[in-house]
Amino acid sequence: MQENGRILSVILTKVKHQAKPGVSTMDLAEYALELMTREKCKPAFLGYKGFPGAICVSVNDEVVHGIPNKKRILQVNDLVKIDVGIRKDGFFADMAETVYLGGEIPDEIDTLMKSTKNALMAGIRNAIAGNTLGKISRSIEKSVENSGMSVIRRFVGHGIGRSLHEKPPVPNFGPENQGPRLEVGMVLAIEPIVTNGDPEVFIKNDGWTAVTRHGNLSAHFEHMVAVTECGPKILTSTCQAG
Ligand code: MG
Repeated sequence: MQENGRILSVILTKVKHQAKPGVSTMDLAEYALELMTREKCKPAFLGYKGFPGAICVSVNDEVVHGIPNKKRILQVNDLVKIDVGIRKDGFFADMAETVYLGGEIPDEIDTLMKSTKNALMAGIRNAIAGNTLGKISRSIEKSVENSGMSVIRRFVGHGIGRSLHEKPPVPNFGPENQGPRLEVGMVLAIEPIVTNGDPEVFIKNDGWTAVTRHGNLSAHFEHMVAVTECGPKILTSTCQAG
């Protein structure tokens, strides 16, 4: 899973750098698929419960599960969430990042992205054997609240391994004394999804794309993290030292 995580982080970084004004969300998916084929891995999301895309690309008020589309051309100032999953040698990996397509990033969007990243790191720091899962959830929620943003509660993280979505669910909110005790060897996909406005979402007519009810922006960062004897280990990283 560590090797899959490394491969995935390389793929996502390359796809992220292709996200530019004038490029379609389908172009990103096709590029991701090409990289996956080169690495001899399969797209985890394609066909998952009928999802039609190789990756998810969600723009601006789209929160998650955006379907790649040739007609959806990225524009300057778009806030783009790229979520990629792969399967290789019987194991899954899952990772998401948010990228802003513009020169100087507006303060509001900078705060939203930093808030989401910081919340993810707060959650990861609590992926320690002996902790309740709720410690991760509450630390994410607290971090988001402290930055004045809101957690979108409709979507949660998850265990991951031989299946894409395994138990336990990893909510980005809730009391810290709840949920199972974390054990060495568990691998969790931790993925706060955060907005700067109303956290309510609805699903578009395509049956997949979640959008915020009032058009407010959202950000999404996800890492796959192992609970180890030495503490939390981010598997979706190009840096595997230590
Ligand atoms: Mg995930």
